[in-house]
Amino acid sequence: MKKVGIDPGHGGHDPGAIGPGGTYEKDLTLPVALKLADLLKANGFKTVLTRQTDQYVSLNERTGILNNTNCDLAISIHCNASGMPDPDYIATFIIAKGGHAQELAIFVQRHLVKTTGWEDGGVRVGNFHMVRETDMPAVLPELGFITNPKQEQWLKEPENQYKLAKAIARGICDYYAMEFKEPKGEDNNMFKDVMKDRWSYRDIMAMAKLKILQGYPDGTFKPEQPVTREELAAALNRIFGMTNEDFVEIIDTILPKVVQIENDGHGLGSGVLIHPDGYIITNCHVVSNNFAEWQEAQAEDKDLELEFPSMVGMRSEFNVFEGANYAMGPVLYYDEYKDLAVVKPQLGESNYKYPAMEIVKENPGRAEKVIAIGSPLGLIGSVAEGVISAVRKSRERTLLQTEAEINPGNSGGALVNLKGQLVGVNVQKYIGVAVEGLNFAVSAETVRKFIQEGIDAGKLPDKLKTIL
Ligand SMILES: [Zn+2]
Repeated sequence: MKKVGIDPGHGGHDPGAIGPGGTYEKDLTLPVALKLADLLKANGFKTVLTRQTDQYVSLNERTGILNNTNCDLAISIHCNASGMPDPDYIATFIIAKGGHAQELAIFVQRHLVKTTGWEDGGVRVGNFHMVRETDMPAVLPELGFITNPKQEQWLKEPENQYKLAKAIARGICDYYAMEFKEPKGEDNNMFKDVMKDRWSYRDIMAMAKLKILQGYPDGTFKPEQPVTREELAAALNRIFGMTNEDFVEIIDTILPKVVQIENDGHGLGSGVLIHPDGYIITNCHVVSNNFAEWQEAQAEDKDLELEFPSMVGMRSEFNVFEGANYAMGPVLYYDEYKDLAVVKPQLGESNYKYPAMEIVKENPGRAEKVIAIGSPLGLIGSVAEGVISAVRKSRERTLLQTEAEINPGNSGGALVNLKGQLVGVNVQKYIGVAVEGLNFAVSAETVRKFIQEGIDAGKLPDKLKTIL
């Protein structure tokens, strides 16, 4: 395996050349070098860096590191500087004409010119310490003029730094007659400046996937950039808070799909619109006439047949009932054991479409984040957040146990995931579960099964198949 020594010029108290915009050369050479190391490793090279942070390393120490580690090649990365703003070529330096260094320099220079589109300064001879005191073929690309305002601006962009690193890596691959492979795969493409072998790779990917820390529009993450106080506040709020934008967005889309259900027999519960034609899923006990007796029977572990009112009332703050906020409708189908029922507002014949919640296809896993939403104690649109703490399966139904607090009026409401999909129908207390302080929902899987049974029984229309 070939070993490439990479030397990011300057560092620490030695800023190198300084651009008119205040850019330090040492701050351009390091990111290019780190990206180059990542790219070379992805192409099967070993790499040695003379510095990996903003630290001062003397020239003798640098060549010492490269010589002692027996590198096969050395690349010392610098930017050019001039007293005049105009020079704008790009050039690669070697100690003398001929030999392996010149071969390498020609390949590297060719790709640098192609990438930048800048004037080709060619391969030049320069008596620099890094190409003179190194035991292996060594080249020193001067990546344009930091003193040229245009080039300074271009060099500052992490995207361009990545391009430069890629150009040098391509040159090295050409030198060895190897094909350069750009690291691929979903993970590598997530941020072009975060490669798989970075020590923090897994942490960065995890935070990015959870949208706790995000990248920049140019596709970079800038892993070494310090965090500002406001970024920290935003990240912490995303972890601990319920006020982040995504969350608010989900809630906004869910709320109109959750309605309050009232009947004369007892108080209030919730229901979830699951089909654009207005079909609403809720708990069976929510639409029963004898809810209080049913509760007593549950406590004593007795059976009690539920009685149903002919019509139940449905209320929404979002005027989802053809522009109104109240409608009446019949219970179409129910199952006392699964504690599920379907009701439908009875309105005029029309093409009116309701906002409907999608029923999730896969069962949620343990620890998946969920939101319980309903109208507890008559407060429409109350929201509680938690995680799935257990999935309890039995032959007839699957219950999801959740940390999200489910209050009386939440019964029949939605347990949704962070995509806004229905993962369960909330039940305040469940049949046969005599433990206080636990919250349950009937899983989406059971909801689908229940709806299919309703269709098979001829109580629910065939068109509901489309939501299963
Ligand atoms: Zn320099």
